[in-house]
Amino acid sequence: MSFRLSSRSRARLVGVHPALIAVVEAAITRTTVDFMITEGLRTVERQAVLVKAGASRTARSRHLTGYAVDVAALVEGQVRWDWPLYGRIAEAFKAAARDLKTPLIWGGDWKTLRDGPHFELDRKVFP
Ligand SMILES: [Zn+2]
Repeated sequence: MSFRLSSRSRARLVGVHPALIAVVEAAITRTTVDFMITEGLRTVERQAVLVKAGASRTARSRHLTGYAVDVAALVEGQVRWDWPLYGRIAEAFKAAARDLKTPLIWGGDWKTLRDGPHFELDRKVFP
């Protein structure tokens, strides 16, 4: 079983840090759950809208600098939000990040406001 990024997903990677794109590219080749990219680089205006709507908690999102991506799990081409799918996608991202020696943070590992679809470059290495 092998998946490929759609052209729409690739378009959403425009402006994302090359190190993070490399992790995404490696993750899609090894994941057992297909995924699409729903968002990469985000404008300040859009971030403000998301914070106001309660969809984001920070005005300092990593999406603003292109240091974060959001994914959606796909099962037979349909978007699914079932939590276990995101753990499996995260396994692929983490393994890819390890191979590429790119420190990566998964939002699903956060203690509060777990964010399963979210991956970002570690601030400690990519401030
Ligand atoms: Zn995100």
